[in-house]
Amino acid sequence: MGASLTRSGAGAIGGQGDLLGPEVRVSVMLPLPLREAYDYRVPPGMTLAPGDFVEVPLGPRRVHGVVWGDGAGAVDSGRLKAVVRRFDVPPMPEVQRRFIEWVAAYTMTLPGMVLKMAVSVPAALEPPRPLVAYQRINAEPPAGFKMPPGFKMTDARRRVLALLDDGPARTATELAEEAGCGVTVVRGLTEAGLLEPVMLNPTRIGRPDWTADGPSLSPDQAAAARVLREKVEQRVYAPILLDGVTGSGKTEVYYEAISAALKAGRQVLVLLPEIALSAQGLDRFARRFGAPPAEWHSDLTGAARRDTWRAVANGEATVVVGARSALFLPYRDLGLIIVDEEHDAAYKQEDGAIYHARDMAVARAHLGGFPIVLVSATPSLETQINADTGRYTRIHLPARHGGAVLPEVKLIDLRADRPPARHWLAPTLRKALQATLDEGEQAMLFLNRRGYAPLTLCRACGHRLQCPNCTAWLVEHRLARKLQCHHCGLQQPIMDKCPNCFEEGTLAACGPGVERVHEEVLELFPKARSAIMASDTLFGPRAIQEMIRKIADHELDIIIGTQVMAKGHHFPMLTLVGVVDGDLGLAGGDLRAAERTYQLLHQVAGRAGRGQRPGTVYLQTYMPEHPVMQALAVHDRDGFYQLEAEMRMEVAMPPFGRLAAIIVSGEDAALVERTAMALGRAAPRSDTVAVLGPAPAPLALLRGRHRRRLLLKAPRNMAVQPLIAGWLEQVEVPASVRVQVDVDPYSFM
Ligand code: ADP
Ligand code: ZN
Repeated sequence: MGASLTRSGAGAIGGQGDLLGPEVRVSVMLPLPLREAYDYRVPPGMTLAPGDFVEVPLGPRRVHGVVWGDGAGAVDSGRLKAVVRRFDVPPMPEVQRRFIEWVAAYTMTLPGMVLKMAVSVPAALEPPRPLVAYQRINAEPPAGFKMPPGFKMTDARRRVLALLDDGPARTATELAEEAGCGVTVVRGLTEAGLLEPVMLNPTRIGRPDWTADGPSLSPDQAAAARVLREKVEQRVYAPILLDGVTGSGKTEVYYEAISAALKAGRQVLVLLPEIALSAQGLDRFARRFGAPPAEWHSDLTGAARRDTWRAVANGEATVVVGARSALFLPYRDLGLIIVDEEHDAAYKQEDGAIYHARDMAVARAHLGGFPIVLVSATPSLETQINADTGRYTRIHLPARHGGAVLPEVKLIDLRADRPPARHWLAPTLRKALQATLDEGEQAMLFLNRRGYAPLTLCRACGHRLQCPNCTAWLVEHRLARKLQCHHCGLQQPIMDKCPNCFEEGTLAACGPGVERVHEEVLELFPKARSAIMASDTLFGPRAIQEMIRKIADHELDIIIGTQVMAKGHHFPMLTLVGVVDGDLGLAGGDLRAAERTYQLLHQVAGRAGRGQRPGTVYLQTYMPEHPVMQALAVHDRDGFYQLEAEMRMEVAMPPFGRLAAIIVSGEDAALVERTAMALGRAAPRSDTVAVLGPAPAPLALLRGRHRRRLLLKAPRNMAVQPLIAGWLEQVEVPASVRVQVDVDPYSFM
């Protein structure tokens, strides 16, 4: 591309309109699983430039796509179909097109499928429908005004008029909702000539104000903010790790960087793990900048999605706070990315295009030539090493703001300090809970396991209730009266007979989930106000927000929560955190098990004592001598990281080596096995590259599909993609078998 495009001026590709003139064609990338862009003819009178959003025919259908460049000319021009129309939206900037190509190449995903993430809201391509609102024609009917015959002033009609007498114009739906009536009431009033329709600007995107003052910063914070501001002003690629304990003011500091980017007239993206997108965080932003940011996550309505996509494209939305998919929005002029909680595993997308949003964000900043700030109290080992070796700038905030102290962490050795049978809280933890309640303070019990019990076993025959579609136990959810598979979503009613030996009353729950711990809390402290906080007991972000408010306002004494509540919330009265099963994340052979457990438990511990009162954390474990537990107990984060780094270095595992996983799956076990074996035989092997497997994946059966894995291990600096591409080409894959590539895998299931 490039020079050949600029035939009729500044990058435009114009239809000449005369039969004799040279034919004009463009290549259009479609958001479909296609290997490359397709050529189309530019009809007379239409002018197109790279990045334009267009509608084109594809077989009998019409689809939308993006002009990628000039046509390749492989297809005879007589057979080319013409572009139907150009959408009236700003073109996709060059840098984003390069980004889509880069992500596709890196993750070995078809570019069309990456583009699909960028045009996830096709409705946004159409002009926004003006929003009709209603206002009063006159507070007082003009002289001589007569009510239409048959018109009655009902209570509902009076309420709607009263609302509009002292409020702005609103949509019929809004009026009906506020007045507690149907929309027909609004219609009736309009027909009677008492209300008139007006057009509203449909996008209601806030305009954060960079001139608003933040708090006065501590010297450490101010120094950190100065570095960030400078990098933003320099408009150069600069990866920065903002490293500091929870409560040290990392958010205040990166707000300064946001302010600098807004001052420079550029857009900002703040990435957060989906469940950390809380009202608390958005309110805080709004208080600091006078307006809320644009939000982007899975819980938006279609209309909000459409408005936000357009506002990002035309530059109206200046700050986007979003989950990983926000990375693919069509920013007009992105000038800063913040990745908060950069270590969080939720940044890895595991289905469809498999990508790590943090790593892709770094690539985006590199392509765009602007700074990116990775924020964490417990950075990933990858990022730690990048900072240690100077690839990233490290900014450190050493202390909690206002001198709040880190909570004391006490290990409870479950081998000695044993809970009663079929109970899960050790005597020491029980005493601490009682003392906390006596003080009128709040406690949280953390267990990262939803439901009542992770396993149901028949005491008569030993049968275990298993998911028929997955290599997984069925989890009992007693509140919902269901057995559930947490992998495929299968649900069954709770049974009273063993399905294997048909004995009655022999099925027994094994192990605890949050519901079971709650049962124990109710038994021990019947008077305390307690509740469960888990993703399946709270439906959607709004319910989570309401729960967070309740906790913050001390309407609850004991909260039993999963990782939903580990995230950056600030609870001033919470002084005790009990980790029910500290060892939970350490089971299984995951490369990052220790690192993740450390990060999660550190974050959970950080919930305690964020206010005036110091906090205490009790960590129940069968392995008090484990490096993770020891590091948590003595607050030796860096010691833990060093040990972890040494272990990984010794075996050349990431970040000191590279991995790529090949997952072969299908419904026919024999066919899957044969394909996996063929891949194993064709595997590249050399002094530097090793391929392990094929082996059954730990989840050897998932949603009814059999799964085999191969793992490629290569030196850190090797580009593994061409190697893998060449390897896969050698093996014929049956149509019913899927081969997925996961470059830099995080899940080893
Ligand atoms: P982190 O993001 O590192 O967890 P925060 O930025 O959330 O830390 O700060 C923790 C708490 O301290 C917040 O309530 C924040 O408003 C407050 N805080 C931090 N720095 C300052 C400051 N310089 N002045 C006033 N309050 C501050
Ligand atoms: Zn299942």
